[in-house]
Amino acid sequence: MANVAFIGLGNMGGPMAVNLVKAGHQVCVYDLSAQAVIDVVEHGASTAVSAQECVKDAEFIISMLPAGKHVASVYLGENGLINHIQAGSLVIDSSTIDAQTSIVVGSTLKEQGIEFIDAPVSGGVGGATAGTLSFMVGGSVENFNRAKSVLDNMGKNIFHAGEHGAGQVAKVCNNMLLSVLMAGTAEALQLGIANGLDPKVLSNIMSKSSGSNWTLDVYNPCPDVMENVPSSNDYQGGFMVDLMAKDLGLAMDTAVTSQSSTPMGSLARSLYAMHASAGNGGKDFSSIFNLFNKESKE
Ligand code: NAD
Repeated sequence: MANVAFIGLGNMGGPMAVNLVKAGHQVCVYDLSAQAVIDVVEHGASTAVSAQECVKDAEFIISMLPAGKHVASVYLGENGLINHIQAGSLVIDSSTIDAQTSIVVGSTLKEQGIEFIDAPVSGGVGGATAGTLSFMVGGSVENFNRAKSVLDNMGKNIFHAGEHGAGQVAKVCNNMLLSVLMAGTAEALQLGIANGLDPKVLSNIMSKSSGSNWTLDVYNPCPDVMENVPSSNDYQGGFMVDLMAKDLGLAMDTAVTSQSSTPMGSLARSLYAMHASAGNGGKDFSSIFNLFNKESKE
């Protein structure tokens, strides 16, 4: 079992850290939110007065932070962790951030002898809690194999996407597709409801037909079709609209850089930006369902 430091204990990081504790690792956790720390310490993790203190004896340092600016500042900013992590340790950044920031952070750490992989995840809070996340890893084969000893305790599918930064590219491709599937599923369900169909019946039909997709199977956006999903809990918890809007911005930046055409992704980005600016940024991303609600516009 390994000495692990875990930084960022939000909707995703909290349950991921708990799974490492359950697997028997020595886990020191840190978050700016004292409550987030308490919630994981209750499951057997230790904590320290600062992130710097947490990482100093760790063989693996895992971060699960909101965006690239947080990752850059935690590792390379004033009193950054770069000056506190032991040479030879492996940093696993599982935050979804732009590949360029990830490459800068990783190569700067490497100059100090600290290893790095980008390892963003898919699977949502449900996957983080159940330990069934998919990890998309960018980095050397050696570091990928080394990281598997801890990633296996948090996920079911651990993919090596390619060199450093490739994990982040795979992640934005996946989330761009997810946003399109969610928006499409939401408008199809609203179309059915507007024409007298029961959303439970329609969901069941589509999930067994050619419209089947992940959102219909495990994350239905219509309230009360499924239990234990954000739509049945007033769109609380889960994956925030603001984070999906961020990921779609990253996808668009990636498309511009590679001169790729992404019309469906562009439309989804506009829909999510509009939904966020209407005051829904803190809700789960399945709340896009309400954008197509015919009743609310009459
Ligand atoms: P979150 O906002 O719930 O959690 C982020 C945590 O980071 C917060 O607890 C915050 O206090 C902490 N934090 C911020 N700055 C910090 C700092 N300097 N030091 C220590 N802690 C700090 O976000 P989340 O939903 O857990 O998502 C985290 C990352 O995972 C994001 O990049 C997101 O895009 C990605 N992601 C989220 C989901 C999901 O379903 N929520 C799914 C896949 C990927």
